[in-house]
Amino acid sequence: MPECEQCGREFDTERGLHVHQSQVHDGEDLEETEEKPQGFLLQADFWKLATVILAVLLVIMAADMYLFDSHLSEEEATTKAMDYLQENIQGGANATLISTSDTNSSVYQMRVRAMDQNIDMFVTKDGEYLFFNHAEMD
Ligand SMILES: [Zn+2]
Repeated sequence: MPECEQCGREFDTERGLHVHQSQVHDGEDLEETEEKPQGFLLQADFWKLATVILAVLLVIMAADMYLFDSHLSEEEATTKAMDYLQENIQGGANATLISTSDTNSSVYQMRVRAMDQNIDMFVTKDGEYLFFNHAEMD
């Protein structure tokens, strides 16, 4: 007599056993798949956590820039930029600073005369990066 391996119930026919197994015990597989939403929840928690960490990092970076004020003065930053220009950029040795100005963003603007051109540059207020905007021919 066919017997169910999982619960020991006996059946008159193999077919009856198969019907029982598919109806009663296949349901256990379904219960296993119902655990997937928990996986999604864990994933959601992960992204929530990642978002919180990112937010904290942004606050720390903002605090570093604005609360602890790692900014150089306009003169310090542009002087540092000119030193870099004259020592490291080809044709920059004879560069002269024409004018500087503060901007509302995180850069100082500086106009430099080099190789018979006026070149607009931007130096970040922490003095770490120098951008060349464009060169205009006179
Ligand atoms: Zn069974």
